[in-house]
Amino acid sequence: MVHMKLFAGIDLGGTNIKSGLLSRDGKILIEKSVPSEVNAGVDHVLDRMADCVKDSLREAGEGAMIEGVGVGVAGLVEFERGILLEAPNLPGWQRIEVKAELQKRLGMNVVVENDANAAALGEYAYGAGQGATEMLMITLGTGVGGGLILNGKVYHGSIGAAGEFGHMTIQYDGPICCCGRRGCVEAFVGKMGILRNVQEKLKSGRPSLLRIIDVSKRTPKDVSAAAERNDQVALEVLAETGTYLGIGIGNVANLLNIQRVVVGGGVAGAHDFFLESTRESLQKAALRTAADEVEVVKALLGENAGMIGAAYLAMTEQ
Ligand SMILES: [Zn+2]
Repeated sequence: MVHMKLFAGIDLGGTNIKSGLLSRDGKILIEKSVPSEVNAGVDHVLDRMADCVKDSLREAGEGAMIEGVGVGVAGLVEFERGILLEAPNLPGWQRIEVKAELQKRLGMNVVVENDANAAALGEYAYGAGQGATEMLMITLGTGVGGGLILNGKVYHGSIGAAGEFGHMTIQYDGPICCCGRRGCVEAFVGKMGILRNVQEKLKSGRPSLLRIIDVSKRTPKDVSAAAERNDQVALEVLAETGTYLGIGIGNVANLLNIQRVVVGGGVAGAHDFFLESTRESLQKAALRTAADEVEVVKALLGENAGMIGAAYLAMTEQ
């Protein structure tokens, strides 16, 4: 019988567990998504994660073998021991030995990584980051996630807290961020930042399609939909979002001389309206040599980046 060597990737979020079985060349053979059911407790969620892997292996058929399991999880991870130290979106998950618990349930080698870092690895290995050894992944959504690849590896920092691009200060007296500090990148380019900018522009009485939508119901998606219809307020807001993003990227470029920045996440659907201004402001914010080196590109793997990156981690960290 021919043995098919596969790698499992799991992306554990507050809402869903996404999992997949991948071949070494990054092809997804089996894909699953089930509700995380975090309110039922840590053990329940760990059981569900293990079941995803077992079910997938069964579905892959005779001859399929899982060589390793990678997990991406939204929270602060102690990488070496695979312990989730804290996770704001997973109630009760503090100092959870994810690696040990899953190894016990599966009898397979398990590696655990922060989800933004896993997404960065996914894009690096099989997506928009291919060929760049120094790369920053930025995920734009409600929050702004970051994952840093240096010399082809995730850079964890001293306790695993590196790569928090969203909480770099770009204006010391700027708007309040969800982290409680002022003027973070996220306070400008996260969901709340974008919507606050819309509201400020509408105050001056300018016409805009966005007026039709109640302020409490507006989303960044509405802003990009309005931009597609050539709404000037929406176009300006997205261009300014790009400008702030570029300042953050410029600072990273100065410090680390990165080659590529991969921008993904929900808001990134509006790429066409902000990446140009991102590139322009990056040129202003970074020193010439560092600025000229950086390419800013759209992510390619969408919502699967974390799961794919987790599987890649399992291939490379055996
Ligand atoms: Zn912040």
